[in-house]
Amino acid sequence: MQQGTAPCAEDNGRDSKPIAVAAYMRVSTAEQRGKYGIPAQADAIEAFLGKRPTWRLVGSWVDPGESGSTDSRPGLDELLVEISAGRADTVVVHSLDRLGRTEAAIWRCIWQIQDAGAEIDCCNQVLGEPGLDKWLTIDRLAQTVEADYQRIVARTQAGRQLKAVDGGWPGGPAPYGYRIRGKGAFGSILEVDPAEAAVVRLLADLVIEGDRTVTGIAEELNRRGILTRSGKRWTATNLHRRLKSAAFLGEAVFRRSDQQWGGHCTRLDGSGRPLHGDSVAIPLPPILPADQTRAVRQALAEFARPRRIPVGEYPLTGRIHGPCGRPYVGCFRSGDGVRTYRCSGWQAAVSCGCVFLRAEHVEELVTRHVNALLASMPPHNRPMLSVSSEAQTRLIQHAERLGSLKRLVAQCAEELDGFRRQDPHSRVVAAALRQLEADKRALERVLVHAQDWLAELEARVGRDARLTAVLGAAAPDSQVLPPSEQRRLIEQLNVRVDITDPEFRYREGTKCLTIQWHEHTGAPVPPEPTDRLWARIDELLRSRYRPHHFRSPLDLRAALTGMLHRLRTGILWRDLPERFGDFRKVRLRQRTWLADGVWEEIVEILGEEGEGTPVLSHGTAPELSIRSGPVTDAQPAVSFGARVVNPVRIS
Ligand SMILES: [Zn+2]
Repeated sequence: MQQGTAPCAEDNGRDSKPIAVAAYMRVSTAEQRGKYGIPAQADAIEAFLGKRPTWRLVGSWVDPGESGSTDSRPGLDELLVEISAGRADTVVVHSLDRLGRTEAAIWRCIWQIQDAGAEIDCCNQVLGEPGLDKWLTIDRLAQTVEADYQRIVARTQAGRQLKAVDGGWPGGPAPYGYRIRGKGAFGSILEVDPAEAAVVRLLADLVIEGDRTVTGIAEELNRRGILTRSGKRWTATNLHRRLKSAAFLGEAVFRRSDQQWGGHCTRLDGSGRPLHGDSVAIPLPPILPADQTRAVRQALAEFARPRRIPVGEYPLTGRIHGPCGRPYVGCFRSGDGVRTYRCSGWQAAVSCGCVFLRAEHVEELVTRHVNALLASMPPHNRPMLSVSSEAQTRLIQHAERLGSLKRLVAQCAEELDGFRRQDPHSRVVAAALRQLEADKRALERVLVHAQDWLAELEARVGRDARLTAVLGAAAPDSQVLPPSEQRRLIEQLNVRVDITDPEFRYREGTKCLTIQWHEHTGAPVPPEPTDRLWARIDELLRSRYRPHHFRSPLDLRAALTGMLHRLRTGILWRDLPERFGDFRKVRLRQRTWLADGVWEEIVEILGEEGEGTPVLSHGTAPELSIRSGPVTDAQPAVSFGARVVNPVRIS
């Protein structure tokens, strides 16, 4: 086993033919300036390439990195597509920590790059040629990166903990109603902010009054010209956040396990306890008197808030557009448990007034559209099939890598055995043993990361397999896919739903009993009475009702025609044309006839002459237009072919 022979990057064999190089950079907000800023990284990469005449820079890809382990890296994703297309042979980064802050994140990033078809190089760290040495070098460097990162985290967290225990303010924005005194200094504490405290008192009054919803209270604050701390209008969302915070009631809890602190989650260990220190309650100078605080607590417990459903359960979120042009989002109506889509503009300062859609209804229409569209395509042209075969390829590649890693570990173990049989007092043997043991441990560490990654790739392929089965069928039925997969398919096909009837309005209230009766019995709305049939109906009515039923100025034949008109057209009672009579009186007769069973007989008589029409019920939805495929307007375009040109991201 060769040791310490990492070749110098300058004279390696790859220099002989031109190499297409892609620069990858990542920067977090805290690192914007200084040695990790984008210009500094770019300069270092340029200098690195300057020493390699045959290396040609084809482009730079940048990700803003909130945290090195985050999964969302649009820059890297784009770069991987470029590599797969054969446009880059090597990815150069400033240093390994640009790929991730943990060992696992760094390895995954490297393997993704390698499996797409490129090698990885670092400006300030020699990684060596592919093979055992590179494995070991990366493992050593990755360990250092993770250790450094953990040290930084521990240092910041320990400092914040100490401040919090001391009754000081551990950092982050002050809770609403308070401001920080001595900002930045170690002894910084919170004090009441008079202007915000006045709003807190008003909020307490509004909450205790109890006759408003969260949205209603937000509207009241807006009506009084009160803005949020950042100068925005109040919404149910930002107000709810304020009300939920314990600080509102005079107590801030640092490292609350169920809540965020200044936009960051408290990291929890396996048992759900905060990872970096215990929760600490920081007493705040009270804004409200104790009895009012109790009353607010009680009133807040009364507020029910619609349950938020993850976006995956609403495959059409962002795909539906109402008359106002804004996208619709999935929304669970907690009152009656109905899944709906509603326009994102309904919460705007001036609500756009777009109608909501029942999720079941629109999803069924889209599924039918998607199925028909897929069936019309030859199977090899259907989207996602290529995507899934790509995932399969990645899995096989990584399984091979795992195999070679295992072989290396076995080889190491074998060599160890060999040395152990030799003279244990020899210094050379002892040194070799130490080195081999260290190598074996390093490889085993990498092996663990590789196994985790394999499990994840397998899960992906499993998901894709379901999709492949559906898409490969002669008559594809996307209905069987889980919502998240339907969503991927809908995005690939670039399905777009538009509400084409801007005037559409749902009818108020619950369905009237007559409509319910028609829906229940399936009886169509009969044609209008002819003279002959009207004579029979008149006879029927006179046999059932006393004379006063006929003494009203209401023309009963016109009224009956009006009732049928309403059932056929779905108009509201109050919109009933005057020629049928006063709608209140017509409505009263309609109810009486139905309740007495006379309506059934009338429908039967009228049904003798001519076909009926189905009743138009309250549940009727607005007219929708469903389109798919590349579109020419500002929408992101997606090709049907092998590769996604511009994947749609909806956050
Ligand atoms: Zn709207």
